[in-house]
Amino acid sequence: MAPQESAPIPTATIPAIAGLPVAVDTRTRLSGNLYSVGAAQLDKAAKAMNLPSDVYTILSQPKNEIIVNFPVRMDDGRYLLFKGYRVQHNNILGPYKGGIRYHEDVTLDELKGLAAAMTWKSALHDIPFGGGKGGIKFNPRMHSKGELERITRRYTHALGSNIGPEFDVPAPDVGTNAQTMVWIMDTYMNVVGFSEKNAVRRVVTGKTITCGGSYGRETATGQGLVHCVTEWATDRKFNLNGSTFTVQGFGNVGSWAAKILAKMGATLVGVGDYKGYLANPEGMNPHKLSEHVTHTGSVEGYRGARKITREEFFGLECDIFIPAALELEVGVDEARALKCKVVVEGANGPTYPEAEAILAERGIDILPDILVNSGGVAVSYYEWLQNKRSERWDLEEVEVRLEKRMKRTYGMVRDLADERKVDYRTAAYIIGLERIARAYAERGIFP
Ligand code: NAD
Repeated sequence: MAPQESAPIPTATIPAIAGLPVAVDTRTRLSGNLYSVGAAQLDKAAKAMNLPSDVYTILSQPKNEIIVNFPVRMDDGRYLLFKGYRVQHNNILGPYKGGIRYHEDVTLDELKGLAAAMTWKSALHDIPFGGGKGGIKFNPRMHSKGELERITRRYTHALGSNIGPEFDVPAPDVGTNAQTMVWIMDTYMNVVGFSEKNAVRRVVTGKTITCGGSYGRETATGQGLVHCVTEWATDRKFNLNGSTFTVQGFGNVGSWAAKILAKMGATLVGVGDYKGYLANPEGMNPHKLSEHVTHTGSVEGYRGARKITREEFFGLECDIFIPAALELEVGVDEARALKCKVVVEGANGPTYPEAEAILAERGIDILPDILVNSGGVAVSYYEWLQNKRSERWDLEEVEVRLEKRMKRTYGMVRDLADERKVDYRTAAYIIGLERIARAYAERGIFP
């Protein structure tokens, strides 16, 4: 639970964290948070494309910022108060769509930045969704499964009709998973009335297969990332077979990206997560590492590699670096240290603008987050459609559709970047913003 915003968690519930060494952060301090960094990126694209100022005004802030405080009974019988958020950035193209994050550092500004990124991502792919993001400020690792279920159900109940299958459709993000989505779905279903129950299954995506999830959703973001890497490699005439890569964050996005890249002959030589960093120039087996993480909760202690520092991790020789942890991990120091050919942004907003300038100067390519990690929202859309039509698509159908969509969108971004002489991030923003601007031009605003 957030120390400054809610009641403290009794020490007895946090044995897994007690005694952990506190990392000393010696990095160059950079100003700004995810929201201000996203706002700077929006500004840059808006200027490059002459976005109408009225549309810019609308998009510069989210439509709704919902904050709920709700009590939850802990296993020891006490009540704790939690702070939950749902930010709804824009819905001109369709229902708000975006993940739910459980993390002790969740802030309103962070969620505003993430919600806006969802608007750009859906619009970039021409998916009829808008952008939203939510979360609860607490550390899920400190709670039992029963507590997590009650926290999730109370949060869903507190949000009430602020979410809905045609209005705002959450999905998993950092600290949440398919089980979390199923609890949200079940809670929502049970408050809408008997006859509606099955029609509202699509109130969330990223569910388990049994409860209405889609084949291919769990791997979608990592798979979509790899489609982008494949396109980049083709353009650069670079052979992925025999290449090397490093991954920061070995959760859903990082681990699947690693496993799929390994299948293509690329070697994982460095990895890190919230507990520490590892390297092995001979390569690590991402499947075994993933099993280790499933059993222990972290990459720490994995036998097939040597422990290194965060600084050493960023200086590792590799071809591809994949940030897939939290935002703003690549600052000036990291950008100077990286020895790769391309940064593939699996995480949302991992790179400070100052770092981006250094990477560009050093000739290191950046494949931007709103393109690279959009496989998740693409397959979420397929899940939502399957639920709406009471269909079940097989894995092959989902994979073929995802590959086609990712490669088509990648090609559009690359071509626009070449044509307008802008970076890939700006090109990706422009494609999405042009669709949104067109919708506002046709519809105007009410009344
Ligand atoms: P996850 O919770 O499954 O994994 C997060 C990983 O980051 C874990 O390995 C964790 O240990 C690590 N981590 C956390 N704090 C860290 C720190 N300070 N330093 C180093 N590592 C740290 O989350 P995920 O779903 O894989 O999401 C990762 C990123 O990808 C986030 O930025 C998220 O918004 C973005 N993303 C996720 C999806 C999706 O479908 N899951 C889609 C698009 C974007």
